Amino acid sequence: MRVPTLSKSRYLSGDQCHLRLWYDSYERDLAPPPDASLQAVFDTGHEVGRLACERHPGGHYVAHDYRHVRDALEETRRVIEAGTASVLFEPAFRHEGVLVRVDILERLPGGGWRLGEVKSTAELKSVHVPDVAVQLWVLRGAGLDVREAAVVTLNSDYVYDGVRLDLDALFQNHSVTDEAEALQETVYARVREMLDMLGGPVAPAIAPGEHCFTPYDCPYYAHCTRDVVWPDHGIGELPFLHASRRSRLEEEGIEEIRDIPSEFPLTSLQTIVRQAVQEQRAIVRGDIASELARLAPPAHYLDFETFKPAIPRYAGTHPFQTIPFQFSVHTERAEASLEHTDYLHEYDDDPRPYVVERLIGAVGTEGSICTYSHYERTMLNALAVAVPDRAEELTAISGRLFDLLPVIRKRYYHPEFRGSFSIKNVLPVLVPGMGYGDLEVSDGRTASAQYMQALRSTDRRERQQTFDDLRAYCERDTLAMVRLRQALGAIPA
Ligand code: SF4
Repeated sequence: MRVPTLSKSRYLSGDQCHLRLWYDSYERDLAPPPDASLQAVFDTGHEVGRLACERHPGGHYVAHDYRHVRDALEETRRVIEAGTASVLFEPAFRHEGVLVRVDILERLPGGGWRLGEVKSTAELKSVHVPDVAVQLWVLRGAGLDVREAAVVTLNSDYVYDGVRLDLDALFQNHSVTDEAEALQETVYARVREMLDMLGGPVAPAIAPGEHCFTPYDCPYYAHCTRDVVWPDHGIGELPFLHASRRSRLEEEGIEEIRDIPSEFPLTSLQTIVRQAVQEQRAIVRGDIASELARLAPPAHYLDFETFKPAIPRYAGTHPFQTIPFQFSVHTERAEASLEHTDYLHEYDDDPRPYVVERLIGAVGTEGSICTYSHYERTMLNALAVAVPDRAEELTAISGRLFDLLPVIRKRYYHPEFRGSFSIKNVLPVLVPGMGYGDLEVSDGRTASAQYMQALRSTDRRERQQTFDDLRAYCERDTLAMVRLRQALGAIPA
């Protein structure tokens, strides 16, 4: 059997799990195609990578893609030997069955080279080091005098002036030369193991476990667990279960919440969860209706959608700053009277002043404002900083917030919440028949990804369709809160 070349990404897959590497190499179709959120991560990576290269005007780009590896290797060799470029983008190197493309390769003034791996994060992470280490191993093995190795990330302290991106300030280099050098023997040993494994006749037998999520979520998880019979209410449903207690339960062979003995130490919330599962019924603690009676009429229900552009788009913002671009408000003036208002910023300029202006009009000055989590409070505070001339009104709005999440968390648990108080879990239990399954956008991460995609799109119709989908999603979130509040109010004490 001809063993396929190990790329950098395959090496990292193999570093996580040999079975993942096997699937990457031979059965890639077992992984689902990237969803909108993952595609957004890829798009952001490309955007950040392109800007990082712009810091080095005149650099040589080795454009041959993965289908033309031999051409890429040849062009890299030629350019380096000619000495005509002090910086190369995407140069290709191969050594002992491993092929890597380097994001940025710089010739150092005193001789030798520095390899740079660009990451679309705001900080250096330990998982970046093996990524650089395998490149260093290949480049040195291929005969290049690499003296420095660095990870290039965005700088979270950088603040965009709204006129021109200062690329030198936007990016920061983190030297990982020592760390990558310390891993060279490990890389060599792992490469040998991986190539031996790939040359074997069958896929390695590896059972799913914690390693499937560390350091990255494995895309083959659904495939690997297709025959697993999951516990009815597994111990994973216990909220905030400490790892040591989880291990203790596992050591005792306890998989089901209902089998946890009464003397086992649990928090009060975990105890409620166990009771609900064991008795197969909802547990109500205290008088929910009287807690909800604190709501001052008219009751408003507020939800924001936000996005976090890696490259700051608006003056005064930094990389990955959270920007609200949309809100929905339902207003309940009487049990049968419901009004809806929303705003979604459809343009390329800063959404925040428009969001603030419309929000102040939407919630008026009277009545409580229900949310589900403290996120809306955090966003209101951030908006007060971003739009200081409306800070007083925003602070007044904050003062009217009423968070439904702690009410549910403190007072009500149903086994079908399955350990989560997310509105996506709680809603179908308390309001049967209501959910998000009929919507194109059904979670916040996708909403954020779709909004960024729409801003990039030049297709007017596609853009409008996305905006309509986002409006439908945000409206559902606030309508869900209305129905939740009504359902909670009807629960007898
Ligand atoms: S799901 Fe887990 S066991 Fe399966 S390939 Fe991925 S990491 Fe390996």
